[in-house]
Amino acid sequence: MSFSDLGLNPKLLQAIEEVGYTTPTPIQEQAIPYVLMGRDVLGCAQTGTGKTASFTLPMIEMLSSGRARARMPRSLILTPTRELAAQISENFENYGKHSKLTKALLIGGSSFADQIKLLERGVDVLIATPGRLLDLFERGKIMLVDTKLLVIDEADRMLDMGFIPDVEKIVSLLPPLRQTLFFSATMAPEIKKLSDKFLSNPKEISV
Ligand code: AMP
Repeated sequence: MSFSDLGLNPKLLQAIEEVGYTTPTPIQEQAIPYVLMGRDVLGCAQTGTGKTASFTLPMIEMLSSGRARARMPRSLILTPTRELAAQISENFENYGKHSKLTKALLIGGSSFADQIKLLERGVDVLIATPGRLLDLFERGKIMLVDTKLLVIDEADRMLDMGFIPDVEKIVSLLPPLRQTLFFSATMAPEIKKLSDKFLSNPKEISV
């Protein structure tokens, strides 16, 4: 299978080629068609399997075929650490470099002022750690009414780091009619319970 078989647009295929990927990894092959169909996905995958692209590529595809310029974020990627958020942001930039989408990286330890400036300009995608996202929301700097695609990345680490109450709070701020993609390296009973709460009729993928 090739990336063009997955139904991605030419600009995205060009970016993928420029990054140097020739074939989709198993999680990409299995997840991307379902994400593009609008299904919720429960992905059991470790880092290193290509899981970031399995949610970032279809996200770019779906946002590109929608409205040209958003005032409010249409997608949110939640991840437990600043380092992971920065990696996702870098991947998003590479995959999306011909797609004219905008993003904000919302993490602790960097300037509120810069993040707020970006939010005021309007971005398509938020890539955030839970604490900083909530902080900005509580300051009235983020509108989540249009955020209909949510990714929860590394849910097991969110649990280990005590972030689940923050994640639950954030999910409660999003539109109930949305698409949710949930990834975890393990599917311990507590994680499964969480996924049941956040996902509706998900396609389950394990690599
Ligand atoms: P991830 O599991 O998302 O952290 O990705 C692990 C590494 O695999 C990253 O360095 C990606 O750039 C790389 N990668 C992701 N998808 C592919 C692919 N289809 N072909 C080659 N490398 C890939």
